[in-house]
Amino acid sequence: MQFCEPARVVDAQYLTPHMIRIRLEILGDWRWPTHGIGDEKIDLAFPREDETVAEFGYFNREEYGSGPCLDEPPWRHYTVRNVHAGGSRLDIDFVVHPGGFASEWAVRAQPGHVLGVFTTNGSRSYYAPPSRTRRQLLVADATGLPGLGRIIEGLEPGAAATAFVEVPSQQDVQRFETAADVTFSWLIGTGLGRSHSALPGAVEAWAAPDDLDYAWVACEAAASRRIRRHLRAGLGLERRSHIAVGYWTDGHTGHFEQDDHDASPS
Ligand SMILES: Cc1cc2nc3c(=O)[nH]c(=O)nc-3n(C[C@H](O)[C@H](O)[C@H](O)COP(=O)(O)OP(=O)(O)OC[C@H]3O[C@@H](n4cnc5c(N)ncnc54)[C@H](O)[C@@H]3O)c2cc1C
Repeated sequence: MQFCEPARVVDAQYLTPHMIRIRLEILGDWRWPTHGIGDEKIDLAFPREDETVAEFGYFNREEYGSGPCLDEPPWRHYTVRNVHAGGSRLDIDFVVHPGGFASEWAVRAQPGHVLGVFTTNGSRSYYAPPSRTRRQLLVADATGLPGLGRIIEGLEPGAAATAFVEVPSQQDVQRFETAADVTFSWLIGTGLGRSHSALPGAVEAWAAPDDLDYAWVACEAAASRRIRRHLRAGLGLERRSHIAVGYWTDGHTGHFEQDDHDASPS
C-alpha cells in the first residue's frame, strides 16, 4: 500500500442543492481502514483543472513531505460519510460553495474520474464523548454536517443530543435515522462565506441543561473558536469534555484544519 492510493468515482448525486454525494470505489487490494467513528477524516487529492485523474504518484515520491512542495497537486480534508463493502466503497459529501477547487471538482465529477486517497492519515477523528455521557451538544455548519449526520445515526438508544446546524437554504436541511433522542435547531442562510455564522450566537443563547456532559463542534474556524470560548467560560465544560475544530477559514484557500490542541485526534 502506498501513501496515496487511487479511488474511482462510481456515482455523483446532489443530496440537496448545496451538497453533492460522491461514491468512490477503491482501486486495487487496499481497503479503507474504518474505525466507525462518525467524524472520521479522509484526505483526498484531486485532478487538476481539465484533468480527470489525480496525480497520486506525486504524493508517493520518497521526498514528498520532507521539504517545500513545488507545484503540489490540490488536496483537501473531507469526512467519510458512509463505508460500504468492507471499506472498498466510500461516500463523501461535498459542500457546494463559490470559488472552491474541490467544490467545483465535485460539481463536474463523473463516474470514471479518479481521486487520490491518503492512506496513512486514514483513521483520524475527533469525536470522543466520555462513557456515561448523558446529553451531548453537536454543532456544525454544512462542512461538519456529514460528520454530524454519521454521529447521530450511530447514537445508542437512550442517548440524548442537541444539534445546532447551519445550512445555506431550507432545502439543505437533512433528516437522519437515529435511535437517540435528538433535538435540532437549523440555522438557515447565514455563514458559509455569505455572512457571519449565526452558530456562536445560537449556542450562547441556548439554555444548556444540567445534564450536558460533552460537546463536539465542526465549522468555520473563527466561529468554532468563539463557541469553544463559550463552552469553557460560559458553560464550564472541562477541556476533555469538548472539542471544537475549525474545518475551514473564511478567506483561506487550501487544506486547513485547526483543532483545539487540548485533545488529540484518535
Ligand atoms: C476534518 C475535516 C473534515 C471535513 N469534512 C468536510 C466534508 O465532509 N465536506 C465538506 O464539504 N467539507 C469538509 N471539510 C471542509 C473542507 O476541507 C474545506 O471547506 C475546504 O476548504 C474545501 O475546499 P475547496 O477546494 O472547495 O475550497 P478552497 O479552494 O479551499 O477555498 C476557496 C474559498 O472558499 C472558502 N471556503 C472553503 N470552504 C467553504 C465552505 N464550505 N463554504 C463557503 N466558503 C468556503 C475559502 O475560505 C476560500 O475563500 C472538512 C475539513 C476538515 C478539517
